[in-house]
Amino acid sequence: MSKKITIAIDGPAASGKSTTARLLAKKLGYLYIDTGAMYRAATLAVLRAAVPVDDAGAVEECVAQNHIHLELIGDTQHTFLNEEDVSERIRTPEINRIISIIASYSGVRVQMVQQQRALSRSGGVVMDGRDIGSVVLPDADLKVFMVASIEARARRRLKELEEAQVSISLEEVRREIENRDRIDSTRTHAPLVKAKDARELDTSALSIEQQVDIIYGWAQELI
Ligand code: C5P
Repeated sequence: MSKKITIAIDGPAASGKSTTARLLAKKLGYLYIDTGAMYRAATLAVLRAAVPVDDAGAVEECVAQNHIHLELIGDTQHTFLNEEDVSERIRTPEINRIISIIASYSGVRVQMVQQQRALSRSGGVVMDGRDIGSVVLPDADLKVFMVASIEARARRRLKELEEAQVSISLEEVRREIENRDRIDSTRTHAPLVKAKDARELDTSALSIEQQVDIIYGWAQELI
């Protein structure tokens, strides 16, 4: 029987991680875990409770009071805030504007990381985020750091938002991505970094299929 490995995919906003990780997991018959969705649900809880975003203690307490979890329904990952399926509701410009601040608080991260590690315990997992190879799964068998030019990333994200009927300009999308990357890369706790043993993949000129095939090939070398 082939070995079930653990794959960590990190990278800046809109570098193609989620789509690639999801399709890769499907191709390998593995579980896909989108850790960004958990931070998104935490941010939704904070917004709903009208907690001041810059009050770290209040934000951490609010997140602790809410049950955030991922559930597999069919072969799709759904994100729950308490009993509510918020999978669709967490991908809005309003959440994008403040999520990096919420995700910078160590008390928030500790709660998320515990769950993420528990979900990956049995192997056969593709997990994507910002700190997966560096903090959450430092012993992952394969670590990938995906990058792409800001132009490519902004265009991709705009297309996704347009498909979801969100009206926003390319310039706004670009600013939001740059702002998130700056906060994510400079925070004290678990910043966005390329793990020393990660393989870098520049996806600027690659199709999703090409990205999946390259990482699938790397995974096959290890399985
Ligand atoms: O991956 P996604 O774009 O959904 O992530 C949204 C935000 O959640 C990131 O910009 C980052 O602030 C936070 N995040 C994080 N650590 C992760 C995943 C996401 O801090 N592992």
